[in-house]
Amino acid sequence: MPSYKAPTRDTRFVVNEVLKLESHGDLPGFAELTPDIVDAVIEESGKFAAEVLAPLNASGDAQGCTRGADGSVTTPAGFKEAHRQFREAGWGTLSAPAEFGGQGMPHVLGFAVEEYMSAANQAFAMYPGLTNGAVSALLAKGSPDLQRKYLPKMVANEWLGTMNLTEPQCGTDLGLIRTKAEPQADGSYAITGTKIFISAGEHDLTDNIIHLVLARLSGAPEGTKGISLFVVPKVLVNDDGTLGARNAVSCGAIEHKMGIHANATCVMNYDGATGWLVGEENKGLAAMFIMMNAARLGVGLQGLSQAEVAYQNGARYAIERRQGRALTGPAEPQEPADPLLVHPDVRRMLMDARAFTEGLRALALWVGLQVDLAHLAPSEEERQTADDLVGLLTPVIKGYGTDRGFATTVDMQQIWGGHGYIAENGMEQFVRDARIAMIYEGANGIQAMDLVGRKLAAGGGRAIRAFFALVDSECASAKDEAALADLAQRVEKANAELKAATMWFMQNAMTNPDNAGAGATPYLHLAGIVALGLMWLRMAKTAAEALAGDTQDKAFYQAKLTTARYFGERFTPDAGALRRKIESGAEAMMALPAEAFETV
Ligand SMILES: Cc1cc2nc3c(=O)[nH]c(=O)nc-3n(C[C@H](O)[C@H](O)[C@H](O)COP(=O)(O)OP(=O)(O)OC[C@H]3O[C@@H](n4cnc5c(N)ncnc54)[C@H](O)[C@@H]3O)c2cc1C
Repeated sequence: MPSYKAPTRDTRFVVNEVLKLESHGDLPGFAELTPDIVDAVIEESGKFAAEVLAPLNASGDAQGCTRGADGSVTTPAGFKEAHRQFREAGWGTLSAPAEFGGQGMPHVLGFAVEEYMSAANQAFAMYPGLTNGAVSALLAKGSPDLQRKYLPKMVANEWLGTMNLTEPQCGTDLGLIRTKAEPQADGSYAITGTKIFISAGEHDLTDNIIHLVLARLSGAPEGTKGISLFVVPKVLVNDDGTLGARNAVSCGAIEHKMGIHANATCVMNYDGATGWLVGEENKGLAAMFIMMNAARLGVGLQGLSQAEVAYQNGARYAIERRQGRALTGPAEPQEPADPLLVHPDVRRMLMDARAFTEGLRALALWVGLQVDLAHLAPSEEERQTADDLVGLLTPVIKGYGTDRGFATTVDMQQIWGGHGYIAENGMEQFVRDARIAMIYEGANGIQAMDLVGRKLAAGGGRAIRAFFALVDSECASAKDEAALADLAQRVEKANAELKAATMWFMQNAMTNPDNAGAGATPYLHLAGIVALGLMWLRMAKTAAEALAGDTQDKAFYQAKLTTARYFGERFTPDAGALRRKIESGAEAMMALPAEAFETV
């Protein structure tokens, strides 16, 4: 059976020592965040994830969700009780606003907790995770009336939320939405249509489920300019907050799928269901994007989480399993064979996993801090810079984080050899669960296009220029320090490749937009390497300072420096190859006629 232990030491290192959360004490909500409190949140949430959620991961996967004849959905054994404990402990309310019953803590802490919950049990964590996104959309665009009616219960996780975009004919291209909304005399709308693949669309964890639904008003403009957002509760809510009649929304089926079996993926039928407009008519996509941006960072954390739990179990197996002898001669001659850990190729996979997970954790938590700064920083300029960085790095965390996260779960399965392919050992579940994160919330190809097509150009290139400058200044300040110089040079070189690739797009994508599409995914990965490089430089600097002082934890900081070196040696060289792929353009990629692909 696989095991999970939340990597709390590493999170505390990033939050307290690298990001120095305490130094942001002047921001609203940060003042009370002494390292003691931060540590308590990190440790207790890690304990909850490991002790309550992880034990339900394999059983939830084996059992899955079941739908009754009446359309009700039952979650696997133990999920209801785990959700009750999760709710009562307040893990879902951490960074929700105090005004609606949340704890008002920074997002950076919320992200740390989200990683643990998802690593322990991704299918479970999605139920409250989606609710966070729905809360963000209602906070930003809901009327005071809607906010008063729904937010306190949603923030308390007494009601959970969903997002309903996808329809059979409409996936990536939301302009194809057909679900209809008809205005009613009382100011509400009648919603009619079918949504598919709706995560947590129906379940037995809460008395009510609050659906956020994209639909089209009759006479609305074609395409994405004619889409509106509605809040549609499963059970109608009376003015005094009590539950009323059942709304005309039901689960028509649940999908049988590759992974996350314990999360109900539902076909949702809206048969004239009563809904209320969120924000303005025909501006629904902008409102839904608030939810999707929050959710995209959450999905990036899923990539991290599955890579982390798979790494822990890959590392354990590499220590326990004995096969073959070390190339340099028997490491443990008294035993019939050496542990897998002696083999450089096994080490390669383990070190890749470490360099990626620790780097991505730092990146995600840093971006979590930028989310806070984008709202709370004292000056407009600081808020703008933080917001730019969040916008730029969201597709990187989602796309690079989940591509590489999935690859890490495959590598860790590989360490288990044939035993990794056998279901009862649990490694294949990590692979199956991690796979969806590359697909939903905008497939990763769409993330890459978002980065190249929208984020690079936004604000006249302000965000990417700020990012380049950040990396350059970090490299410049590190180059004179012996422990950091080699890594700094490598990251600087990777940053130069990213700059060159950006320039190449500027010169070649306007004349032929396919050049942007053809280079988008390599560019996303190149940006991921540079972003992780920035984080590794910062972590290495912190570790070197700690080692120069009087630390009790030498092994931890030494391992950071070694992993930073490995990152420099093994991740940054890919930057040059990725740039060359980008600069080869779209010509050969797009040259074959459509008939050449007709295979059947
Ligand atoms: C388990 C699961 C849970 C889900 N949960 C939800 C949910 O809660 N709510 C919800 O609304 N949806 C949900 N979805 C739907 C999911 O978001 C969509 O599957 C996804 O957005 C892609 O849409 P599609 O499947 O129709 O693929 P398509 O849009 O048909 O795309 C197929 C492929 O073509 C590529 N592609 C399409 N258009 C372009 C383009 N313009 N440029 C480049 N490449 C392109 C895509 O990247 C993708 O790789 C879920 C799906 C699954 C499987």
